[in-house]
Amino acid sequence: MQALDILVTNARVIDGTGKDAFMGAVGIKGDKIAFVARGAAGIAEAKTVIDAGGKVVCPGFVDPHAHLELLILHQPRTEAYVAQGITTAVNGNCGHSVTPYGTDRVLEYQYRNGLITQRFRETPTPFRWNSFSEYIAGLAAAGGTAINHGFLLGHGTLRWAVMGGAINRPPNEDERKELKRLVREGLEQGALGMSTGLAYIPSKYADTDEIVELAEVLAEYDATYASHIRYQLGIEAATAEAIEIGRRSGARVQVSHLHMGAPGAYRLIADAVAEGQDVAADTIPRSTGHLVRGDRLVQFIMTMSPEYFDVGVDGVLDAMRTPEGRRLFVHQEPFFTHDPAEVYIVNTGDASLEGRTVADVASARSVSPPDLIFDLLLEKGREVTFWFGKDRQDAAPDFPPDEVIRYPWLSPGTDILMVEDWDPQGWYELMRPGCNVTFMRQARRAGVRLEEVIRRMTSFPAKQFRIRDRGVLEEGKAADVIVFDPDAFAYPAADEIDYSNPYTRATGMDYVIVNGTIVMAEGRQLDALPGRPVTR
Ligand SMILES: [Zn+2]
Ligand SMILES: [Zn+2]
Repeated sequence: MQALDILVTNARVIDGTGKDAFMGAVGIKGDKIAFVARGAAGIAEAKTVIDAGGKVVCPGFVDPHAHLELLILHQPRTEAYVAQGITTAVNGNCGHSVTPYGTDRVLEYQYRNGLITQRFRETPTPFRWNSFSEYIAGLAAAGGTAINHGFLLGHGTLRWAVMGGAINRPPNEDERKELKRLVREGLEQGALGMSTGLAYIPSKYADTDEIVELAEVLAEYDATYASHIRYQLGIEAATAEAIEIGRRSGARVQVSHLHMGAPGAYRLIADAVAEGQDVAADTIPRSTGHLVRGDRLVQFIMTMSPEYFDVGVDGVLDAMRTPEGRRLFVHQEPFFTHDPAEVYIVNTGDASLEGRTVADVASARSVSPPDLIFDLLLEKGREVTFWFGKDRQDAAPDFPPDEVIRYPWLSPGTDILMVEDWDPQGWYELMRPGCNVTFMRQARRAGVRLEEVIRRMTSFPAKQFRIRDRGVLEEGKAADVIVFDPDAFAYPAADEIDYSNPYTRATGMDYVIVNGTIVMAEGRQLDALPGRPVTR
């Protein structure tokens, strides 16, 4: 037998299919799994032997919901992902993607949608692209990434490129043809599917028929339709629309970041699955809200306001000086519906404001809570930061309902976005770097077997996005393998989160191996960048 590169011995093997764990060993040769064996493998011939000491060895986790497509151009190490055992991320969610057309237009779109800062937009990218395949080729040639990345086409980016910004009408005949051509071209070039952001401009101006027509192209390619659903309808009606789009088009559906506090929406999916439809969901298992810095907040206001989507930050700031402009933003921007007693003011440089709530300071100044936010944005500029929604319902200890987390088609999705290295607090989603830890804990507490939890974080999302060679420990599959003790896998609880430390990471992951190369050893991330683009 040829010498192995890596042998993981004395391990509790969980293969990702949901089958019972057994004590055994996993051998890796090159970038593939050479064997999975029960008992002592009896093979000492390996360049690196990892004695797992009875810990779990399983496939690396597959994250169905990420937004790393631009960040990895500058930050390929994605530490928050490696620390959670994620070896493959599906990017391009919520309607935002790296195509169509060229680099500058995509950066412009992502900036307008608050996904990147002005500084990021102005930083030269390591390569430039004009199509999905050029992006993939550039990424592979640019030095690699720590983990593997797959990509969806984003309906928002496509519609914006073809029709323009806040265009509230159906596409005409030529535009429909071009949208379909772009979806087909992206799929031919390796995209895993298409996402929508039906709560955002411009995706939200698409009616159900427009999406069904594009999803029919997805069905033709056995590609996935992932949706940030149309929340304006209410969460159940929005979930029903996603299911309808799948039923009418024949496309497989992934409902994105579905809130576990909405069991009714989950029951709709369960009914569709029972009738034989291919529908699944991912969820952010818990949130203590978002830390959003002033300049990002202005970008978000721009994103939600059709009158300002196309005018830029200065136009929004000007409008913020007038009562009419303020009324418009309050009406359209969901941040203003948060209970002001749960919105904290941080990073003001003013000790008299630091850590106080918007409700408290607004009352002291005799202004309305939204007016206080506008006043602070104008007075304090880009640095002022708001922590929205500290005490949300999903921070309660008995969250989520067992019924919800037991559904076999539910996976965790990180949905971490916008954390630029030079801008750690610009948008810091407090629980998301611990998403997999939290989901695993919640599911086990609800009585879900560990093997089943791991299936939902490995082979199941891999199957939903048709990532064929990953997500299972099996001879011949890609060697994406992790070693950890599930009981030591940890992240601060909702009430322990330190909002001033955006670099908090999950702990307890011992080894992360990507394509046969060790990326994390004994809990420390190495410099290796063996990750590859994952295409259809
Ligand atoms: Zn979303
Ligand atoms: Zn998202």
